[in-house]
Amino acid sequence: MRSLQSKILLAYLALALLIVGLSTVALVELDRIADKAREGSKVAELFDVTLEMRRFEKNHLLYGQAGDLRDHARYLSRAQELLRRDAPIIDALAGTGATSNLAADVGHYAKAMADHAQSPGDEILAANVRALGNRIVTLGEKLAAKERQSLNAALTAHQRNLLVSVGVVAVLLALTGFLLARRVTHPLKTMETRMEAVANGQLTRLVLDSPENELASLALAFNHVLDELERRQETLVRAEKLASLGTMLSGVAHELNNPLSNISSSAQILLEDLLPPPAGGGGKGLDPGFRAQLIEDIDAETLRARRIVRALLDYAGDREFRSAPVPLAELVEETLRFLKSHRPGGVTVRVEIAPGLVVNGDRPRLQQLLLNLILNAFDAMGEYGELQIAAEAATVGKGKGFPGRAGQCRPGAAVIDLTLADTGPGIPPELLARVFDPFFTTKAVGQGSGLGLFIVHEIIEEHGGCISAANRPEGGAVFRIRLPSHSERSPA
Ligand code: ADP
Repeated sequence: MRSLQSKILLAYLALALLIVGLSTVALVELDRIADKAREGSKVAELFDVTLEMRRFEKNHLLYGQAGDLRDHARYLSRAQELLRRDAPIIDALAGTGATSNLAADVGHYAKAMADHAQSPGDEILAANVRALGNRIVTLGEKLAAKERQSLNAALTAHQRNLLVSVGVVAVLLALTGFLLARRVTHPLKTMETRMEAVANGQLTRLVLDSPENELASLALAFNHVLDELERRQETLVRAEKLASLGTMLSGVAHELNNPLSNISSSAQILLEDLLPPPAGGGGKGLDPGFRAQLIEDIDAETLRARRIVRALLDYAGDREFRSAPVPLAELVEETLRFLKSHRPGGVTVRVEIAPGLVVNGDRPRLQQLLLNLILNAFDAMGEYGELQIAAEAATVGKGKGFPGRAGQCRPGAAVIDLTLADTGPGIPPELLARVFDPFFTTKAVGQGSGLGLFIVHEIIEEHGGCISAANRPEGGAVFRIRLPSHSERSPA
């Protein structure tokens, strides 16, 4: 397979050679035409000389002056000289032997003129002179006409050849242009369109069926870069998930403190009751009902601690997407509890979610989604503000429209619309379309990875839901999320 570069070079060389060849042919032809013009002027000179010769012949025959005879002799010898000089040209024009015939005529004419000069009154001699002179001029005229004809023919042929050459070069240029367009421009255009598709996430690979070496290796290199980017993005997303696990862990540690200290104090009371009373003091002797209550408390708090640990284990596990009914209010409450230590003192959170709203989804993933959105709102609001988390049941295509992104929400599907609205500075309108892009962040280096909302977007896509980011008229950002409702699965 020849490289594209060598193909273009070859086409260029072939065209250059053709143009040089055609130009050389045109130059040679022009040279030939110039020769013809020179020959034409020589033949014209001979014709002019014969005309002059005849003019002086006529003058001499009319007036018999010696001066005219001398001038006639001068032009006659000039004609003979020209016949000798231009013999090849005349022979080529009128055929071999034409010059010697003409020269013989001129000789006879000279002789007739000399005879007439001897006996000027002889009319027969004068008629002979006229006849011979006339013949010579007619021959000269014919020669001049032939020369003009051949010059015209050469010029016409040259014109035709030039037209054909220009036509051939134009056709070849068009052909080369067409081939270049097919082999280079077209694949490059395809590449541009596919790269745009890759950039917009419609394609994950650049497929280019071009036989050209360079374009094939360009596509290969591009795919390699894509692979590398994908690999790095995955690593960073994993790192971001690990970071959020750290956040959860600190929340869980705080949360575990409560059941553990409750268990500990109940156990201490029971232990003190079991120990023998100190000497001299009266034994307390706990009421058996209270004792049972303490043991039940220990059991309940152990269960609560186990639930907390399970939530953490679920969250930490890198498992397959598993859909199950998730009571939304409970999930939001739990997440907020885990994030208690991250909530700035002046920030309040208002939750308005009916207990009956159940989402059909993957609980750990939904928790990660809430965690990312809530932490972003805390970050945006700073020390003071209010975060409202509300949800309501809806049906896709009915009621309020949803300006969604990642919108695969099936029309007619039963969904739950979740809204998180904060009182922070909001998102600059020109950045709204980019907040879900991977690595998009307005935070200082080291403070934000720009992957939080990208992960939220991915989770929404996994659930077949929609998400939109906007600003509230009264200030602050609002994220609207549409998730499949569990009620769709269980019509009852
Ligand atoms: P990160 O938080 O690491 O910057 P995210 O993907 O979570 O990455 O967020 C991307 C950007 O979106 C943030 O840098 C911020 O500019 C903007 N953003 C997200 N949530 C909010 C919000 N509640 N209020 C204002 N801006 C926000």
